[in-house]
Amino acid sequence: MNRRTFLEWQTGLFALALVGDRFGGRATAAPKFSKNPFTLGVASGDPASDGFVLWTRLAPDPIQGGGMRPDPVRVAWEVAEDEGMRKIVRKGEAIASPELAHSVHVELEGLAADRWYWYRFRAGDAESAVGRARTMPPLQATPGKLRFAFASCQDYHYYYTAWQHLAQEKDLDLIVHLGDYIYENGPRPDRPRQHNSPEIVSLGDYRNRLALYKTDEHLQAAHLLAPFVVTWDDHEVENNYAGAMDQEGSRPEEFLKRRAGAYQAYYEHQPLRSFSKPIGPDMQLYRRISFGRLADFFVLDTRQFRSNQPCGDKSGKPCDGFFDPRATMLGEKQERWLADGLSHASAQWNVLAQQVILSGFDRGQTDDEPSYSMDQWSGYYSARNRLTRFLNEAKPSNPVVITGDVHSNWASEVPLDFLDHRSPSVAAEFVGTSITSGGDGGANVEYRDRVLAKNPWLKHYNGQRGYVSCTVTPQAWRADYKTMEYVSKPNGPAQNNASFLVRSGSPTVEKIA
Ligand code: FE
Ligand code: CA
Repeated sequence: MNRRTFLEWQTGLFALALVGDRFGGRATAAPKFSKNPFTLGVASGDPASDGFVLWTRLAPDPIQGGGMRPDPVRVAWEVAEDEGMRKIVRKGEAIASPELAHSVHVELEGLAADRWYWYRFRAGDAESAVGRARTMPPLQATPGKLRFAFASCQDYHYYYTAWQHLAQEKDLDLIVHLGDYIYENGPRPDRPRQHNSPEIVSLGDYRNRLALYKTDEHLQAAHLLAPFVVTWDDHEVENNYAGAMDQEGSRPEEFLKRRAGAYQAYYEHQPLRSFSKPIGPDMQLYRRISFGRLADFFVLDTRQFRSNQPCGDKSGKPCDGFFDPRATMLGEKQERWLADGLSHASAQWNVLAQQVILSGFDRGQTDDEPSYSMDQWSGYYSARNRLTRFLNEAKPSNPVVITGDVHSNWASEVPLDFLDHRSPSVAAEFVGTSITSGGDGGANVEYRDRVLAKNPWLKHYNGQRGYVSCTVTPQAWRADYKTMEYVSKPNGPAQNNASFLVRSGSPTVEKIA
């Protein structure tokens, strides 16, 4: 897409928005649905101290284009102080437009800080489920406790048992999703659940795929429970893509068309603020979410602004370009935003919520040759060390990195330089496993012992499915790794596999259970 096409595209949207406003009366106010239009559930997200985003999408026929006529539809919403929806404190109407797949994003402000609310939508004679959302504590307050969970990588080919168990943790204030919310590939007949179509490429394909994922009852239950803070990894578009480059080496103009459709569909299906609405193939996803002065979440985007992987996207020993100082993971602007934010941060805990492992692990099978993942921060060595040097020198209060992507659990003390075994720790890193991706998994004891021996900063490895549940106080951060016995059949049991503590003032990770 060239710049002129962009402008035309934007102008087109602007015109549509005007029509929507001036002729809002033409939007269908009382549509009749022969089928439930709320098949994808509801969600809240991106909470602030005075509000949050409410989301839903009308889709009576979810995985075949949604099943709506191409007209705008009025959707009423209500916010209440009680679960029974009796004490309504806000209500209004939003237009679900066909341009955004009849999705609805309502941004609320002016609500009371640090409290729970309940919400629901109505379209014609159809009513949605009641979801829970909460505002964050006031910016200047230091709350005594934050409870949140993080998860990633939910390949639909297996069962969302981890979401089922997570949804039982009724005291969670937040749920952070670290990417691979969908996968782009075709069906896999050998697996217990199936994708709806071959590999997805067009906007319509991405919409149907996101809709398929969102029909899952356990994922919907998790969204009902608490506000989500989402960021993406690669599979929201394509495996291991970097910026405008896909893994097949397509022309960037071609790949950016695909990325534009993928980003738009992602926005349409997540509780994101309007600043995240994509413009062509560009989307503002990195942002900061504050839980008073207890925790600041720097939510990063490690895909959109990357340079190409200097050593390719596989694992191996450092190649010639390994130390290339031009390599970037965040892009210059995001990197500056992060450094600036961390320099002025006043929160007790500074959380980097992001996708790929920062620590750097030698995962070689033998003793003589090291092997690093070239798609993770370890493959962007100079960019990685810019960040760890910054953490070491600027010393923002208690940095903790939370990570997805690798479909396994790791707990680590991030070394200043992973090529130097005497490096000091600059942060704690908790890497959470997948919800499903990779299937049942296991303890992988042999592999575990090898990586533990090769990487002295590594404190824990486990290869099962699950999520990580965190309890954060001004004094300490506790991370509980919840693992699932299996996900190849529904309703499997969960265990607490391991628990770790980081005490305020020290980037060390201590095993407590
Ligand atoms: Fe994944
Ligand atoms: Ca990934």
